[in-house]
Amino acid sequence: MHMEHLTLHRSAAVVGGGPAGLMAAETMARSGLPVTVYEHKRSAARKFVLAGRSGLNLTHDEDLETLLSRYGDLHSSIEAAIRAFPPSAVREWAEELGHTTFVGTTGRVFPEEMRSTPLLRSWLRRLDELGVELRTGHRFVGWTEDGSLRFDSSTGLVEVTADATVMAMGGASWPSTGSDAGWVEPLREAGIEVNSLVASNCGVIIEWSEHFGPRFAGTPLKNVTLTVGGASRRGDPVVTSTGLESGPVYALVPEIRDQLAGPGVIVYADMQPDRSHAQLVAHLTSKRRPKDSLSTWLRRAGLEPVTIGLLREATGNNVPTNADELAELLKAAPIPITGLSSLDRAISSAGGVAMSELDDSFMLQKMPDTYVIGEMLDWDAPTGGYLLQACFSMGRQAGAAAVTRALA
Ligand SMILES: Cc1cc2nc3c(=O)[nH]c(=O)nc-3n(C[C@H](O)[C@H](O)[C@H](O)COP(=O)(O)OP(=O)(O)OC[C@H]3O[C@@H](n4cnc5c(N)ncnc54)[C@H](O)[C@@H]3O)c2cc1C
Repeated sequence: MHMEHLTLHRSAAVVGGGPAGLMAAETMARSGLPVTVYEHKRSAARKFVLAGRSGLNLTHDEDLETLLSRYGDLHSSIEAAIRAFPPSAVREWAEELGHTTFVGTTGRVFPEEMRSTPLLRSWLRRLDELGVELRTGHRFVGWTEDGSLRFDSSTGLVEVTADATVMAMGGASWPSTGSDAGWVEPLREAGIEVNSLVASNCGVIIEWSEHFGPRFAGTPLKNVTLTVGGASRRGDPVVTSTGLESGPVYALVPEIRDQLAGPGVIVYADMQPDRSHAQLVAHLTSKRRPKDSLSTWLRRAGLEPVTIGLLREATGNNVPTNADELAELLKAAPIPITGLSSLDRAISSAGGVAMSELDDSFMLQKMPDTYVIGEMLDWDAPTGGYLLQACFSMGRQAGAAAVTRALA
């Protein structure tokens, strides 16, 4: 079999051409370290491109302390990386590439074109100008005994020795984009602790009746507060044929995942979060005419067909006919959750390389000069630009640390 062995003098290898890896590559190349990016797909950053199909949410515009609080139990090194390369820096970076950003109504930051491809094209061009070499069709499969990186390529095995290696092979959601978590076994074999990868920011499974799921799939439940255990989220969950998805659902996944280990999970939907129980009773009573059927009354009260459908689902089609009980149901309709949707279609995954394996600069303590960043690591964040923000920040931080050591 053909075998190529490259020893790169004073150089860096980035494994994985997603946003985290490309940001590390840019940072190192700007400091004069020759960089090669190894990517196993035929093109880089396919998940980044997919992310742009529904509007590329690059980061979030809010006070930095509030932003940091969105990450929940945030590891100190990720926090330090975000402080060093905050949302304002991400926006400046995009603008330097020629892509103006704007803040949407909910604080989400988008490039003006909304999609990823124009920004990615400019980014790859800049990397090329900086001398970064992108080697596609190279799949990382482990290390040789002397610590060189091993790649499978169409021309055979390639072994690479570099002064610094940044691993950024992503998590396990949407494996068709390239992030297939094939790195888990080689890293475990090398003695690195990797926590199981599980779906995050994903939909939940609900056994809808045959009337509700097919009819309302794709319909948003507007302005609803969902509550599970002690956690609540307000927004517009979207009905799917097998459950619910979208922002407020994703945000509750960690709580739902914990509870699924127990006897069962009920999500309570408040479909009138701006009215108290008493205000709702008064409203419902004022809208009722003596001869109205239940359906006419509910419609007259301003309830959408999808809301009425959900009331029927929650009660086995026994929606209460007195205002007090109906108000109670509208304030807390119980919806049993039977599971989480599969990793294949999740926005992101939780789990990955344990943070305890790294030093403050994302370098593996057991493998000096090898850094791990992005979704490969065990951290989690809600949707809203927080995932990409952290990936960009980690790319900057690890890239800068790698330069300092490699050029010392
Ligand atoms: C539908 C969807 C929409 C999203 N929208 C947003 C959004 O609007 N805002 C936001 O903040 N986040 C969003 N995300 C999440 C965001 O895209 C990811 O968190 C981010 O891409 C992770 O970056 P990464 O560089 O760590 O990994 P990835 O983007 O997964 O990149 C990893 C790269 O490594 C390569 N690779 C994997 N294994 C190997 C191997 N063995 N050898 C060589 N190369 C390998 C992969 O092919 C891939 O190119 C979205 C995700 C999805 C699925």
